[in-house]
Amino acid sequence: MLRVGLTGGIGSGKSTVSAQLASLGAVVVDADVVAREVVEPGTPGLAAVVERFGTGVLTDDGTLDRPALGRLVFGDPDALRDLERITHPAIWARTEQLVAAAPADAVVVHDMPLLVEKRMGAQYHLVVVVGAGEQTRLSRLVDERGMPEDDARARIVAQADDDARRAAADVWLDNEGTVPALRAAVLRLWHERLEPFEANLRHGIRSRLAHPTLAPPDPTWPAQAKRLLARLRHAVGDVAVTFDHIGSTAVPNLVAKDVVDLQLGVRSLEDADDPHFVDAMAAAGFVRLPGEWHDNGGDGTTWPKRFHGSCDPGRVAHVHVREVGSPGWEWALVFRDWLRADAEERDAYAAMKTSLAGRVATTDRYAEAKEPWFEAAGARARAWAAASGWQPPEVTGQ
Ligand code: ADP
Repeated sequence: MLRVGLTGGIGSGKSTVSAQLASLGAVVVDADVVAREVVEPGTPGLAAVVERFGTGVLTDDGTLDRPALGRLVFGDPDALRDLERITHPAIWARTEQLVAAAPADAVVVHDMPLLVEKRMGAQYHLVVVVGAGEQTRLSRLVDERGMPEDDARARIVAQADDDARRAAADVWLDNEGTVPALRAAVLRLWHERLEPFEANLRHGIRSRLAHPTLAPPDPTWPAQAKRLLARLRHAVGDVAVTFDHIGSTAVPNLVAKDVVDLQLGVRSLEDADDPHFVDAMAAAGFVRLPGEWHDNGGDGTTWPKRFHGSCDPGRVAHVHVREVGSPGWEWALVFRDWLRADAEERDAYAAMKTSLAGRVATTDRYAEAKEPWFEAAGARARAWAAASGWQPPEVTGQ
């Protein structure tokens, strides 16, 4: 089951996207519907609300009088907290129940207006944000939905801003254009990403680049890595104690294959072999690759690791799981930080990669041909680390 979080500012077109995904076959769990369900007449939720706020929050026919309740909690943080203490557990429980009821091969879309505000991105395999500028959203709410302008403006201001939404978005569905253009983008998203991602996840297949060529540096790589690392942390908890973006995509302005490399540090590789860890990684969309994996440490030594790949066809990512403090773990970090600190070395590395990519046909041969350069670079990187007082990142949970 693929879990997709769908959000967007009010008036962005989120409901339009949600309805289309449902018609394509997604199981949509609508957070607004769930929030209403848990306080319907006869629910323990409504009883608890009445107990706390009095019968004044009921209409004559016994349903919740939302505006009356809204007036009581508006501007009163204690009252709002009490209300959330009553409703949130019921909302989460009902949401989980609806998700669990979906078929094993479902694409479950959680239509969640406050996904960004509540920092829920790491709970999903993918976050889709429907985006439109404030002015566009305002005029849609006023013209198409007939909302008073002041009301629409106040609602927009109360929500997350676009920067926060962009940071949370794995997929940004631009809805500045026409409805047919939006529909075409949703259709592509469904066929090219959501459906194959779900199938990969179910069958334990990692995605790979169709053309493993060098790409120009993408300034969004670090933000993409950050989202994946948050997901990994959510999945494995404190079994891993370091979570880092490594490799060429972690170095600004460096050409790289469009593969995000990530490193998880574990106290012992036995932790990475624990079936709980392997299963949690796979459920989060990072399947373990079978076989023995290691890096060449030069002078004939090998550094063991475990290797996982992302199932997302829209974002190829490798997760290298290494022992904290081991030479392979440390080298990945030193190398990255050295190239970040030394633009000349970064450019020399880029030149070497570009020249090799033009001459070497296969990925394996390419990796092999890079080795001599790496051996020489190793000494320079370590000298830099010693001279600059380089320190490894902090290990959490100790
Ligand atoms: P949300 O659920 O994000 O609040 P909706 O999907 O309800 O947004 O869209 C807000 C309003 O704008 C609706 O009346 C919808 O029909 C309309 N709308 C959505 N996308 C477009 C678009 N690209 N062009 C014009 N109107 C749109």
